[in-house]
Amino acid sequence: MKVELHLHTSRYSACAVAGPEEIIRHLITNGYEAVYITEHDACWGEWELADLAAGFPEIRIFPGIEVAMGENLSCHLLVLGTCDKIYHRLGDAREVIRLARSQGHATILAHPYRWTAAAEVLSLPELPDAVELQTSNHSPAAAKAAFQTAKRLGIAGVNTGDVHGKTFVNRFWIETDRPLTEADDIRDIIRSGGYSNCVGPQEEMI
Ligand SMILES: [Zn+2]
Ligand SMILES: [Zn+2]
Repeated sequence: MKVELHLHTSRYSACAVAGPEEIIRHLITNGYEAVYITEHDACWGEWELADLAAGFPEIRIFPGIEVAMGENLSCHLLVLGTCDKIYHRLGDAREVIRLARSQGHATILAHPYRWTAAAEVLSLPELPDAVELQTSNHSPAAAKAAFQTAKRLGIAGVNTGDVHGKTFVNRFWIETDRPLTEADDIRDIIRSGGYSNCVGPQEEMI
């Protein structure tokens, strides 16, 4: 199953250039079977998401959020599986990770080497479940640094599209054979290494 873990739409992320229907249709065309919508500091409502999902039975659409914290808000954490706006208000990586863990949601440190502030998260006693490796917002050098960090800390590394429009699709993603029925199933899949990192034909695997 081809999965996108990190996607923005123009409904709640000002930097995204495609609306939800347009981008979901494009994912389906490219063979994706599951996606987490992770808007910047905003969550889709449960009913709103169910409404979108009803129009696209070919793909599982799960909720999430990308929370910005730290210096210049340059530390970004993905919380997968939540519709709860509280994550946006916590403003502290330790609290975000702790709450997500208690609720069974996966946390992923987004593009850890895009800027510098993200590094502080990697010295916390409770680490996120994963860091991003190859994404549309990581240079190959940054992806390699993230790979080394994940290895050193013993946490997972995942490829994501960090999708903001159609041109971000089919570049970086994960595939899994495990059942991904509920949104929170992804946490076990990530933590147990039950997935592979994939890159599109235009990209080079690090
Ligand atoms: Zn980000
Ligand atoms: Zn993002």
